[in-house]
Amino acid sequence: MTKIALIGEFHDAGKEILSRNKINFIEIFDYDFEYLKTQLADCDAIGVRTAKLPAEVLSHCKSLKIVARHGVGYDSVDLNYLNQNKIPLAITGKSNAVSVAEHVITMFLVTARKIIECHDIVKKGEYTKKTLIQNTVELFNKKILIIGYGRIGKEVAKRLQSFDCEIFIYDPFVEKNNINIDPHKFIDLQSGLQNADFITIHVPLTDETKNLISKEELSLMKKNTIIVNTARGGVINQDDLYESLAEEKILGAGLDVFTHEPPEKNDIILQAKNIVFTPHNAALTNECRRRMSIETIENILTHLDNKTDLDNIINKNIL
Ligand code: NAD
Repeated sequence: MTKIALIGEFHDAGKEILSRNKINFIEIFDYDFEYLKTQLADCDAIGVRTAKLPAEVLSHCKSLKIVARHGVGYDSVDLNYLNQNKIPLAITGKSNAVSVAEHVITMFLVTARKIIECHDIVKKGEYTKKTLIQNTVELFNKKILIIGYGRIGKEVAKRLQSFDCEIFIYDPFVEKNNINIDPHKFIDLQSGLQNADFITIHVPLTDETKNLISKEELSLMKKNTIIVNTARGGVINQDDLYESLAEEKILGAGLDVFTHEPPEKNDIILQAKNIVFTPHNAALTNECRRRMSIETIENILTHLDNKTDLDNIINKNIL
């Protein structure tokens, strides 16, 4: 009998599909490796939110046929182990681009208009201090650099067009054919950084993208630049970002992701000026939670039914 493990909180809509189809599933909320080894040993499939699944755990899963991430990042799962053992890794590629894109626009606007400072003075009864809140800016007519032009990068670009922005893309892996049909301008990283008023990052965390934005890259940016990272913490060097903001070399930043999550209470980045934080919840709208839960379950069921949705499989070459 098929057995599926769901690690972390899944929206009921996905679980209802399993119940309707009378499929046996367990829910796991303890991510301790020893506990996971015992619970996952006889599972045919794993749906997983944020828990880490290293080879140490996966090697105990003797019946495993697929791992399905509830989300699109997959640095928490040991892909090498899955490749070696010909086990596909699925992501919810159709679910979360729109919600992350809306979060980016929100972070741009909240930072550009210093909404948190404005909110604070009104709440503290210091209404007349509004004259002290200066240097707020608009998105209208600004130059935007999108780093990583995949599912989320494209949705961000679409939304920014309504602000009459000029959009520049840095993504050396986007197929050349797309460049010709796309209305936006493709640019090299250095020129993009020098040129942009707003920057948003949408690349996966890899050896190549780790610290992609560090001291040197930050030093290329204009004084009025606002940078937002909703991708993965390690892509921006957080200490360098702190310095850049402290020395007012750039105007502001927004972070939904951190080098260490959650950040330590004494992490220097939490002291930065002109920055807005969210707790890695760019994709956690009601609508998106529901879509991701359903898509994770569908990825598992279609694969177990030999009708794998290859668009959502990261390592399709092993199938
Ligand atoms: P995607 O795979 O569709 O797009 C990633 C793009 O990055 C691709 O076009 C790829 O060519 C490009 N890329 C890869 N390496 C690059 C490099 N060195 N330089 C420039 N471009 C490079 O992924 P996506 O769905 O758009 O998601 C992007 C990232 O956002 C994910 O990897 C994930 O880490 C993160 N994410 C975060 C949240 C959140 O809640 N904050 C939610 C979803 C995704």
